[in-house]
Amino acid sequence: MSISHDVDVVIMGAGPAGSAAAVTAAKAGLSVMVVDKATFPRAKLCGAGITPRSQTALAEIFGVEMPREITLQSTKMGFHWDGAVLAEFDQPYEFKYTYRMDFDLWLLGLAREAGAEVREGTRVEEILDDVSTLVLGGGERVRYQVLIGADGVASPVARHLFGKAFDTETIGFAYETEVPVPCADDTRMSIDFGVVKWGYGWNFPKRDSQTIGVVSIRGVDQDLRAVMHRYLEHEGVDPESVTIKGAHIPFGDYKEKPGRGNILLVGDAAGFVDAITGEGIALAMESGAHAAQAAAQVIAEDRPQRADRAYFARVAEIQADLAKVRQLRVIAYSSKTRGMFKEKLATSTRLRDALFEVVRGDASYADIEKRMAKHAMVKVASKLSVWPSILSRRAKG
Ligand SMILES: Cc1cc2nc3c(=O)[nH]c(=O)nc-3n(C[C@H](O)[C@H](O)[C@H](O)COP(=O)(O)OP(=O)(O)OC[C@H]3O[C@@H](n4cnc5c(N)ncnc54)[C@H](O)[C@@H]3O)c2cc1C
Repeated sequence: MSISHDVDVVIMGAGPAGSAAAVTAAKAGLSVMVVDKATFPRAKLCGAGITPRSQTALAEIFGVEMPREITLQSTKMGFHWDGAVLAEFDQPYEFKYTYRMDFDLWLLGLAREAGAEVREGTRVEEILDDVSTLVLGGGERVRYQVLIGADGVASPVARHLFGKAFDTETIGFAYETEVPVPCADDTRMSIDFGVVKWGYGWNFPKRDSQTIGVVSIRGVDQDLRAVMHRYLEHEGVDPESVTIKGAHIPFGDYKEKPGRGNILLVGDAAGFVDAITGEGIALAMESGAHAAQAAAQVIAEDRPQRADRAYFARVAEIQADLAKVRQLRVIAYSSKTRGMFKEKLATSTRLRDALFEVVRGDASYADIEKRMAKHAMVKVASKLSVWPSILSRRAKG
């Protein structure tokens, strides 16, 4: 077998997870190749809300702030319930809104500048893990010491490791559209927890549009497309006048062992998305950086097959928080507690502050749970004996 390339780390996928892994690995002195089947700029269905936690990850991993020209910023926020306004307020942190077309292109440029070799428009055809080699489209063979699967929710790397990328019942699904109404800085974003079961609707302000969408768990019994139409009507948009697209999102469906040997899964490929807020960009960048650090450690020790252990230890905290949020979301989304959640959204600054601390990365869900334990919500939740069976199952892996 002729090898045309021999690199320390190959990263499959050039979204936020892949670029974060690439920058971190290159800064650690490793040789890095990033391979993506798409040519950038490429579309990715996403609200592209860049939370304070994502902004921190950008600063810590890439050492940058978002450029003004691809950013709209706002502190204004509203909670809605099936179209009715529950609360409108200024939150203490700035949210940034962008387009993934711009954001991912910018991050990939930073990965290139850091020294990563980038192959766009190149599919990975085969993973030969017994010889740690990838076969790229065109037959080129690349040998790696560590392979990082940053290849999104339908991850071919996860499929290679576990036979499937996700569980079709527990995975999330989202519909989204761009409504061509340009927004200014400080335009209010809104979240509607009442329009859909086990999820929410969002309306994010963007420079050239509003991004409107709904997300839920795929296995929940409801017509999500009809819900999307209803939500658009609430937001003053004729559903027939826009193009609606759908995509899977790992909404609570994370992998307990995201990798095997010298193959690691990061970002959506590992299912690292917050099961209440749907935020995945911060966790994608954080887990990408963790995987690259793990790779640097085991390559230095000349033990690349132990990359999984080094990585699992680094992401244990993320996973513990994802487990906690999956428990806590029953309060937000179960029919038994929804009424109380609605009331708290309208009136409780404590709940609001707690949510913001999480999206800022200042508190974990475990911290929030401890605080909430003093209040009635958790008492009610602990009495819930019946969980939807689909939620008790976990993605294999
Ligand atoms: C509708 C929707 C709205 C969302 N809104 C938000 C939000 O507002 N804020 C937020 O924080 N998160 C949001 N998320 C979640 C967020 O989009 C993801 O968590 C994030 O994109 C994960 O990044 P990633 O790098 O892991 O994967 P991705 O961004 O999906 O990148 C994966 C890359 O892998 C490449 N790839 C796939 N297969 C191959 C292959 N065979 N060979 C080579 N390359 C391959 C793809 O082309 C792609 O570029 C949203 C998700 C959805 C679906």
